[in-house]
Amino acid sequence: SNETGNLPYLSQEVNTFIGGSLVPRIIVDISQENLKDAQILAKVGYRYDMLLDKYHMGEQSVDFVYLADSLPSFTMPANLKQVYNYKTWFTIKDKTNIHPLFTLEEFVHAKHKDSSLNMVQIRNADLTSSLFESLQLDKTIVFIVETNHLHGMADQRQFFRNLQEIGIDNPVIVKRSYQKEDFSGPIGEFMNPEEPISKIQLYASTDLGALLIDGLGSGIWIDSPATALENLASLSFGILQATRSRISKTEYISCPSCGRTLFDLQETTQMIRSRTNHLKGLKIGIMGCIVNGPGEMADADYGYVGAGPDKVTLYRGQQVVKKNVSSSKALDELIKIIKDDGLWIEEIEE
Ligand code: SF4
Repeated sequence: SNETGNLPYLSQEVNTFIGGSLVPRIIVDISQENLKDAQILAKVGYRYDMLLDKYHMGEQSVDFVYLADSLPSFTMPANLKQVYNYKTWFTIKDKTNIHPLFTLEEFVHAKHKDSSLNMVQIRNADLTSSLFESLQLDKTIVFIVETNHLHGMADQRQFFRNLQEIGIDNPVIVKRSYQKEDFSGPIGEFMNPEEPISKIQLYASTDLGALLIDGLGSGIWIDSPATALENLASLSFGILQATRSRISKTEYISCPSCGRTLFDLQETTQMIRSRTNHLKGLKIGIMGCIVNGPGEMADADYGYVGAGPDKVTLYRGQQVVKKNVSSSKALDELIKIIKDDGLWIEEIEE
């Protein structure tokens, strides 16, 4: 079959919030958290300020939280959409920002639907079922595609292709579920002790990233009860960032380092990151030497390039701004350049 012929999948927009040309949305399950404590939302990017009784959003605030059948005892942020199982959703009086999740069967038979956004769980194999045939399509449907196929990514890719063939363009959120037992393959727990990459990072990135890179998916839902909620949220944003489908953080482009490298690349990168990683959308090149570095950081906005022992040259794009700054001052100088360009923002205290 023709696997890549019809890519990307162009969906229509639903509720001016998902699909179309909007960035992929992120949904996480918070139903197992302590829903008596508003502070748990800090794990998904909404920091509750008790004194002001307000929430602060960050660059990595998730778009939807799934609560299954659990009701929180605190007021949720006004800009966070909540998703409940259909039966529970139905019992909630004030449905502002609250949407239902249906099984395909529930949706087909449902008497009550949300007027703006209905999530419907589905699998690729369902597309040939008689249940699917009786589905009344409408513009409020967002499919949550799941898979229990051994080759889950291929199965979900096929789902998009099948939708296109049928002529359906509702948005699709790609959901993958991982249980602890799924992580017993030959890959070690950590690939590199210096920069630990856990198995969930590897699995989710390859499963979801492969689809997003081809323009498939209006959102992602990583379901992994064994993974801490804050890690799931940052993993989700990380996958969108890496596939260039949604930029939510600063990007660093560093050279692989070699015999020419004039400073400890890892240490230097950590140092630069610690003060600039809140500058959303900025690309900073960190290059070991001036011989090849400037060429290798081609599309960076700024460059921090080793120029000699204890000497750093700073770039704006391809242009040298300051030559041979001592490395103890170089980061301050770089920040000054970013400030002069009007691109600096103060970090919000956590
Ligand atoms: S930029 Fe310089 S130090 Fe870095 S890998 Fe290339 S040649 Fe080596």
